[in-house]
Amino acid sequence: MTINQRKTALVFGGSRGIGGAAVEQLVKDGFDTAFTYVSRPDSANALVANIGSIGGRAIAIQADSGDPEAIRAAVAKTVDLLGPIDAVVVNAGILRINTVESVSLEELDMMLNINVRGVYLSIQAAVPYLKDGGRVITIGSNVAISTGSPGASVYQLTKAAVAAMVKGLALDLAPRRITVNNIQPGPTETDMNAGAIEMLSARSPLKRVAAPEEIAGVVSYLASQASSYMTGSSLTIDGGLTL
Ligand code: NDP
Repeated sequence: MTINQRKTALVFGGSRGIGGAAVEQLVKDGFDTAFTYVSRPDSANALVANIGSIGGRAIAIQADSGDPEAIRAAVAKTVDLLGPIDAVVVNAGILRINTVESVSLEELDMMLNINVRGVYLSIQAAVPYLKDGGRVITIGSNVAISTGSPGASVYQLTKAAVAAMVKGLALDLAPRRITVNNIQPGPTETDMNAGAIEMLSARSPLKRVAAPEEIAGVVSYLASQASSYMTGSSLTIDGGLTL
């Protein structure tokens, strides 16, 4: 592939875990890829170096998804450095586990802020710079279908909001042939699940959790031409957990 054929992607929350795997996969698929992070410049810089070593191009941008101005600045920097955007992936998300009796107002606001408002604002900021026929991909969760254990009510409501959001956005953006789809992973081996992998594997019909690369493969499909007739959909990739 020559440099002129390369495309541009922006991944919100791409320094590690599922987002990091998505960045690597998109680069392999021919995207010059910008990604945001908030607190781990070490992970972000290591990913940029790793991608450079395989001959790809990635740019790390510090931008808190809770800060609308930072989101807008991340989009502007991406467009400045890499040009108009072909695919935007909104992966940044946080998980706090607490049953309803102990969820604080601060925790409720923080999860709504990153997992719902931040997702919407990231897409809204990118839309003017997305090419016609482009792609919007969100990372929700299979908990939008079934929580499975106590303490996830707030996380569940945020991920259900993402699944609902993509339907309306798909209709808004259809006139520009921009598709909007949501991936709902099940338990995946990342820092978010540190210490719980054995327990989560035991609950899975396949007796294991996902590797981040298995979710990134679905990002790759949704970012490709192969998915061009799919929009407003949520794809649950959870090894059968919610069956
Ligand atoms: P990790 O905690 O491993 O990584 C989170 C990523 O998002 C990091 O790159 C982190 O940046 C970034 N991020 C977090 N908060 C912000 C913020 N405020 N602003 C910008 N970036 C931020 O998470 P996972 O890879 O496990 O999860 C990724 C997504 O997948 C989330 O939306 C999660 O809800 C969802 N998901 C995860 C599942 C799992 O089992 N792991 C299952 C189902 C869904 P930094 O490195 O700087 O902290």
